[in-house]
Amino acid sequence: MGDTISELRERLLEAAGTIGAEEALFEVQKYPRETISVSLPIRRDDGRMQTFKAWRCRYDDTLGPTKGGIRIHPDVDSDEVRALAFLMTVKCALMGLPFGGAKGGIEADPRALSEAERERMVRAFTERLAWVIGPERDIPAPDMGTGPMEMAWIADEWGAIHSRHARHVVTGKPPVLGGLAARDTATGRGAYHVLEALRGTLGLGDGDRRIALQGYGNGGRAFARAAVAAGWRLVAVADSRGMALAEGGLDLDALDAAKAAGNSVAAADGARAAPADAILGIDCALLVPAALGHQVHTGTVGALDCRAILEIANGPVSPDADIALRERGIAVIPDILANAGGVFVSWLEWQQGRSGMPLAEAEAERLLAEAMRDRARAVATMADRLDTGLRRAAYAVAAERLVEGIRARGACAYARS
Ligand code: NAD
Repeated sequence: MGDTISELRERLLEAAGTIGAEEALFEVQKYPRETISVSLPIRRDDGRMQTFKAWRCRYDDTLGPTKGGIRIHPDVDSDEVRALAFLMTVKCALMGLPFGGAKGGIEADPRALSEAERERMVRAFTERLAWVIGPERDIPAPDMGTGPMEMAWIADEWGAIHSRHARHVVTGKPPVLGGLAARDTATGRGAYHVLEALRGTLGLGDGDRRIALQGYGNGGRAFARAAVAAGWRLVAVADSRGMALAEGGLDLDALDAAKAAGNSVAAADGARAAPADAILGIDCALLVPAALGHQVHTGTVGALDCRAILEIANGPVSPDADIALRERGIAVIPDILANAGGVFVSWLEWQQGRSGMPLAEAEAERLLAEAMRDRARAVATMADRLDTGLRRAAYAVAAERLVEGIRARGACAYARS
């Protein structure tokens, strides 16, 4: 569970108020532009039919075609999909991308499905939504429970239905089909660049460079690699099954070996094991939640022993806990900035597919670093200007761009009375 749509909208409207934007402008995106609900009857490997619920929400397309991942998770529902689509709208605006926001969800446990069953499910999702998905209209990407293989199936199915190849219909594809290898690590590496850009402002990392990381998946792992290579020390990491501790710094290869063997990070060589939920109370300079929403809430915020939080997960801090953190002087680098590296590299991949001109991986990495540092500085400048925290400042930067877009399109796009 993460922030609800009303909590997120409240944040945007509050930030819009601080920059003098009229709330009335945001009336045009009070509700999602469309949320499509579909059923996916799938033949299981044993011959049974089973039907799953799925949704695609295109929240707002003021700034361009809608963009957002597809999540396969047993707890996903239409409210969560709408909230995440709203978050994508704000994130793309903050990053200055020519995209609106969308999200898709399939209510299923991907680990309980064989690869063939997942393929039938993803192809059925694409077939049901082939009229919505499109390279200039709505462009999916991976999210929890999906990855490059699922994106390849979407591109293939969409191409078969529309009788054409359009490599920019989906991002996060395998490199051989027009993906960028940089996409896989972009969220974690992007978060690292944001951290480096804000380090001075936050007074972080000069003496104490200890990090505690919750979640060792796609985002958390790439972040850990980049941060440790730059001299930060990973003293604790948790996954869903346990925590690994080493005051002198964890060995990332040992963590990867434990995961590759199908174990928890707690089983890594040279690490001390502890329960997963103790991660939030670890004494460190920087706590990095990179797993689930609302992990830091009113019940857990008192246990925190860090100087700052870098949000790689979407919505890991509840709004009430956010207030408590401000009172305690713990800075929060917000999700819409910290984890936007993935959608930024998705934009590069989309451009590559659209133009047919391959982009060198080194160039993709350079552009990612430049963009994340630039956006982090823009947010810090806004925070100074408004004398506020980084979260409200990030929403204010996004609100400025959305307001400009809504005003610019207003006459023709929204005044069809
Ligand atoms: P993932 O599935 O690859 O990894 C999730 C990790 O969290 C796993 O290590 C899992 O074991 C761990 N985890 C689950 N429950 C936990 C718990 N209770 N305690 C500790 N660890 C737990 O997912 P991901 O792609 O890395 O995404 C993680 C978060 O980052 C999500 O909130 C996602 O929305 C957000 N995010 C990811 C991307 C991306 O490109 N991967 C982009 C933007 C936002």
